[in-house]
Amino acid sequence: MRSVKDILKSNVLAAKPLNADLKFTPYIDPDYPIADQNDEMTTEQIKPAETLICPICQDRGIIIEGDVAYPCNCMRMRKIENQFRHARISRVLKNCRLEKFRFDFYGPGKLDQTHSEGATKALNAARSFVEECQQNPHGLGILFTGPVGSGKTYLAASIANELIEAQLQVLFLVVPDLLDELRASYKSEVNEMDLLDTARTIPILILDDLGAHNYTDWTRNRLYSIINYRMNELLPTVITSNLSLDEMEDYIGVRTTSRIIQSSRIFRLTVEEDIRHQIYDERERK
Ligand SMILES: [Zn+2]
Repeated sequence: MRSVKDILKSNVLAAKPLNADLKFTPYIDPDYPIADQNDEMTTEQIKPAETLICPICQDRGIIIEGDVAYPCNCMRMRKIENQFRHARISRVLKNCRLEKFRFDFYGPGKLDQTHSEGATKALNAARSFVEECQQNPHGLGILFTGPVGSGKTYLAASIANELIEAQLQVLFLVVPDLLDELRASYKSEVNEMDLLDTARTIPILILDDLGAHNYTDWTRNRLYSIINYRMNELLPTVITSNLSLDEMEDYIGVRTTSRIIQSSRIFRLTVEEDIRHQIYDERERK
């Protein structure tokens, strides 16, 4: 075991390239409406990613326990995330936690009980998933379906945040960004293979917003290769989508949809009113 001093010394060296790297990672454009990027919108001001702080080490890169210091998982994760232009959980989503899940958006008091029943099942599944991943990294993934503003991304981001805090390796990718990036990397084969390889092999992958995007045969094949590889290796994937399974077949193809069904538990979230509208009303009522 290395001493705190040794680790601090080596991390001083590591910290510099890390900060330098951050300059090249894209930040969340403050002018880019989060509603288009993710399912959940809060009123919090979106700030550049440079201000993001690791909840475990507060960006020190190490965790100190008594006399011993360990490198924080965030160092390794940042390297992985830096391969992608958009692979990070946005500041807005960093605060999502399962314990803060708000059932009042789904009822009670709402006429239709199916909303709160669906939400209960989805939340329980998210909780079990977080626990199971920490015991056995090879298990089923989850597919959260439901309309825009029904809390799918909230659950997926909460799962990611909690697993990151448990020092697991999680990659959070927004599907349209991933597709753009794969298309952009088309010319440089090496880079594309790196991206694909990371998405295939990361222990836990979150694919947010697998929706009605412009898929080409080429991007469909890439998606298939990620999902098929992960299914075969029993690497869990959490997917959010506002598509029905039939629509999913139309957009991403029958074979990829069938792999997702084989390797996931499926939960549907529904709401009487878009959660973002409910949050808006709540804020304006104050
Ligand atoms: Zn850290």
